[in-house]
Amino acid sequence: MQQHGGDVIVIGAGLIGLSLAFELAERGAAVRVYDRGEPARAASWAGAGMLAPYTERITNEALLRLCEESLRDYPAFVRRVADAGGVDAHLRLDGVVYAAFDSQEFLSLQRHAAALRARGIECEVLDRAGALKGEPWLGPSVTGALSKKQEGFVDNRRLGRALVAACEARGVSVERSHSIAMECDARRALGVRTERGFIPGGVVVNACGAWAARLVGVPASCVPPVEPVKGQMIALGVPTGFVRRATWVPGAYLVPRDDGRLLIGATVESSGFDERATAGGIHALLDAALTAAPALGDFTMTESWAGLRPGTPDGLPVLGPTPLANFFLATGHYRNGILLAPATARSIADAVESGDVSRLETFALARFGTEGVSLSRMTHA
Ligand SMILES: Cc1cc2nc3c(=O)[nH]c(=O)nc-3n(C[C@H](O)[C@H](O)[C@H](O)COP(=O)(O)OP(=O)(O)OC[C@H]3O[C@@H](n4cnc5c(N)ncnc54)[C@H](O)[C@@H]3O)c2cc1C
Repeated sequence: MQQHGGDVIVIGAGLIGLSLAFELAERGAAVRVYDRGEPARAASWAGAGMLAPYTERITNEALLRLCEESLRDYPAFVRRVADAGGVDAHLRLDGVVYAAFDSQEFLSLQRHAAALRARGIECEVLDRAGALKGEPWLGPSVTGALSKKQEGFVDNRRLGRALVAACEARGVSVERSHSIAMECDARRALGVRTERGFIPGGVVVNACGAWAARLVGVPASCVPPVEPVKGQMIALGVPTGFVRRATWVPGAYLVPRDDGRLLIGATVESSGFDERATAGGIHALLDAALTAAPALGDFTMTESWAGLRPGTPDGLPVLGPTPLANFFLATGHYRNGILLAPATARSIADAVESGDVSRLETFALARFGTEGVSLSRMTHA
């Protein structure tokens, strides 16, 4: 680390904090990660693992470019992580399908395909027969589909385990501590205080996901305006290969796993830090999935859960330095934190290592002004 001396302390062991710790360690930094809970649980465990910026229809150009960079990085990132720690994260980049169920939606998919092709993105519009040939489980009312070839998914739970193993293999200490507070003087971050005492750090990074605004010891000018946005999901047990590619239908998406689980997600709810899966949420997901594909009704529901996405007022992450020297933010990734893990790790590591924040301007905390942002002003699509 040239710019900042001493250890780097990352607070938060989700996919964002762990990916950054791994990247920094591979560049030669001494890194400690602290989490008050189990590493790689929280949103990073709860997510669907989709790597699908085009299907998500991200409209902010800077965010779309960061997502594209991350998507391109993914194969090498997963390989580096597996080489270090020995756990493969099951990356599959063989396309994501968006299925339409009326002529209006099919027209909209055709327009979207034209816009994507103009951007150089390979995609295929499928008529009804083509959609059913690729994904025969779709119900009889499907009218067509759009397949985006570069997109796909990763098994995010496996990626979490893979990153913990890779971090440990690269000498990163991943520690659990019930009470963690940042310590600083008027100008700079000094380290963290845990129940075991004060640990000095040359750099401190807040990677606390949906809880990033609640990290203790942070001056008001450095608090990111992050709020939790709940997502509920369920899993069905289906024969392996029943659903071939991640598929969006109205009101839900379906993502297959190699172990036969079919994930169905996700609700989008502003309900504070409530992490319960509810009857209403599960009903909404099943209703959307079974309307699109009645054949799914025969399978067992094996799991239900909920997680908290780190949302921000403008839907963009908060990345980079703060008014406090040596204190960085890597949070606010909302619906795309799994996708954005490799690019976030690289760009925050660049900022920590050499002070290069040129790629992070759009995502700077400063965009919210120095007075801070009223969290109640936040809206979520
Ligand atoms: C239902 C659902 C579906 C999703 N689907 C996708 C998807 O398909 N694709 C995609 O790219 N993204 C998806 N996301 C979003 C993605 O999961 C998140 O953006 C991403 O996981 C955020 O990672 P993170 O590391 O910032 O946060 P988290 O994974 O939440 O980790 C934050 C960590 O910080 C720790 N922490 C918090 N406060 C403190 C503190 N004070 N001290 C110490 N530790 C602390 C927590 O214990 C936790 O371990 C989904 C999210 C949900 C909920």
